Parts: sequence; structure tokens; C-alpha cells
Amino acid sequence: MITINKDKYYILTSKNGKCYVLKYKDGKYYWKPLTSTKSKCKKHKKTCLKKKKCTKCQQKCLKKCLRKCKKKSLRDYHTIKIPVPKPAGISGLPEYICFQIEDSFTDQQEQRIKDGIFAVLAVWKKHHDQKWNGGTNNGTSDLAACTNIYARKNLKPAWYRRQDIPNVKTVTNMAMDQFTQLIKDNGLKKYCPAKIKAEEIGDIEVGTIRSLSTSKRFKVPLSIGVNPKQLDNPRLNISMLAGSLFHAWLHRAGWDDPKTTAYFISECPMCIMRGYQSKNPAVPDSTYTKFFD
Ligand SMILES: [Zn+2]
Repeated sequence: MITINKDKYYILTSKNGKCYVLKYKDGKYYWKPLTSTKSKCKKHKKTCLKKKKCTKCQQKCLKKCLRKCKKKSLRDYHTIKIPVPKPAGISGLPEYICFQIEDSFTDQQEQRIKDGIFAVLAVWKKHHDQKWNGGTNNGTSDLAACTNIYARKNLKPAWYRRQDIPNVKTVTNMAMDQFTQLIKDNGLKKYCPAKIKAEEIGDIEVGTIRSLSTSKRFKVPLSIGVNPKQLDNPRLNISMLAGSLFHAWLHRAGWDDPKTTAYFISECPMCIMRGYQSKNPAVPDSTYTKFFD
């Protein structure tokens, strides 16, 4: 038996179509034929046999199947639920959004991720409350007003087919409406497809949260990769964390890099990071964009 990341695995070999497991008894190792019923690999039973996916393996050889399970069990996840606030003027929202988060995060790191998600949800709520404007739904949120000053490039999301885009305020509204869609897609499902993986992304000072760009408008999981080292960085305060997460989720909403000045995917999250304040010429944008993927 070998141990990888505290998990125990049996060493298997196959010969003439049969599987053998390496056993240790009376001071020596020997190969013992393996059958599914006698398999002591708890992980295998839990992840594969119970799902009845491995009927073939049970009859033939467990080696391949066990290898799969081994791979799987190196990344174990548990489910977390984040309550969804209720912005004015939006109905049909779920109570929670949920994520499969990797077990390898410490409790403290997991709490920071939850805080970051909640902070982004608060930004989303504030935007919609201000836009709702007591029922007229024509208000300009702090986020839209700030982004309108700075964003000039890559305004269109990948799923937007029309040529024209009216103005940056409309783009910000579109992004937040798309985010509403992603929240509904996540929270109203009976399963939880969004994953939060631990990924060390380069140097500690570069990259915090990573997400893939998409051109799809519906059924896009809010999956992210998070640099655990960065979560322990005291310079990553809650605004920086929220901005980094929001940038990653803008990728999921259809907007794309580059993560530089004037681009929507940079300027909109930077407004969150500056608390919607104007830029200070003494503070370069790289102070913020270094936390983007
Ligand atoms: Zn990016």
C-alpha cells in the first residue's frame, strides 16, 4: 500500500487479464489475485462501485478504474452555499448559490473565498438597487457611473451579436444582468456544477482568481481557480479580493482580456477595488490589475 496526500492506495498489477494486489504478510510482500468483492479499497467502492459505473471493471480488471478513482480522490470537494441577497426589481432568484470547493483550502482560506463571493453579490445587489431607482429602473449605479469614465475597449461580450453598443452604462447594466442569469443558472439547479479549485498561479504577487472566458450566455458554471497562497496575503483586502473575483466572473459572463487600462474587464472591477472613487494619478492601475488573471 502506498500513501499519497494522506490517502492510502493499493498497488495493483495485471497479468493475463487478471488483477493482483500487493499484500504484506509475515515479513514479505506477495501478489494476491484481486476480485471486486474482496477489494478493500474504500475509495474505489465509494466513488465507482456504488455508482454502478464499473460493471465491466468488476468482471474484468479493477486497475483502470482504480487509477481513475485515485486521480479523483486527489482532489476532494465539499459543497458550500452562499445566500443570495434580494436586489430591488429582480424576481425568481434562488435562495443560495452553491459551489463544490476543494478540501485542500484551510478553513481560513475557505472563509476568505466565501467573503469574496458575498462581497461580489453585495456589489451586484447595490448596482440593481441603484438602477431600480424606486421603480423607474433607469438609475445609474455607482458602478456604471465609475466604469463609464474609464472603460473604452472590448465593451462587447462574446455572445453579443449586434454591431452597435450604445454606451458604457448600458454595458455595465448588461454585465450585471448577465450576472443575474449566472446566479439563476447556478442556484436554481438541483445539482451544483460550479467548482472552486486550488491553483497556484505564478508568483504570489500575480494572479488571485482565474476563470475561463466563454461565449455561451446560458448554463455557464461560475467555476474558478483560486491561488491559496494569495488568500493568505494580507495586502489582498476585501475590495481587492472582490475585484479579482469579479474580473474572473466577467470572463464567465462573456467579456475578455487584456487586463489593462481602458478595457471593460479591467476598469469595471477596478472601480469596485477603488470603492467607486476616481483614479489617483499617483496609484498605477497595475496596483489592481496584478490581482487579475
Ligand atoms: Zn482576465
